[in-house]
Amino acid sequence: MNQVHGDEVLLVDEPGPAPTEQVPTADALVTATVGLGLMVRVADCLPVLLADTGSGVVGAVHAGRAGVALGVVTRAVERMREQGAGELHAWVGPHVCGRCYEVPEQMREEVAAVVPQTWAETSWGTPALDLGAGVRAQLSALGVGLTEVGRCTLEDPALHSHRRDAAASGRMAGLVWTS
Ligand SMILES: [Zn+2]
Repeated sequence: MNQVHGDEVLLVDEPGPAPTEQVPTADALVTATVGLGLMVRVADCLPVLLADTGSGVVGAVHAGRAGVALGVVTRAVERMREQGAGELHAWVGPHVCGRCYEVPEQMREEVAAVVPQTWAETSWGTPALDLGAGVRAQLSALGVGLTEVGRCTLEDPALHSHRRDAAASGRMAGLVWTS
């Protein structure tokens, strides 16, 4: 998908176009089609993969600052439940942590006004956002189980970080499918 930090959830049932062609714009993909893999690409944002092994409905979500504030993870879970998902589990991959993700004071206030759990301070005492805490709260409110990979993209040189490497940063991919 062409990720734009929005809250659009796209329900798909067939492979997307070739990478050289225009891919659909969305920040979450949901499918109930067996064998159809969904991919999210990230470098500091949260890759959130969702699955219900009972119904076979899976989802992949790109959740950055704007997406967390817009509730894109919640939108995806709601869409999955419309498709018959029951007992959902989420895997949240590596992302920039709340001790590293420095933002202007006003931005912290704006996001925390919508998702209070995101309010954070950097390890050097300046305003920050903890997007992981925000997504944990959103998933918990929906009764979704969670497995989290607790590595910080900014601190771990083995991971891609847009904050650290700017335009030179690569992307990591999160994939989910049923077989
Ligand atoms: Zn960190």
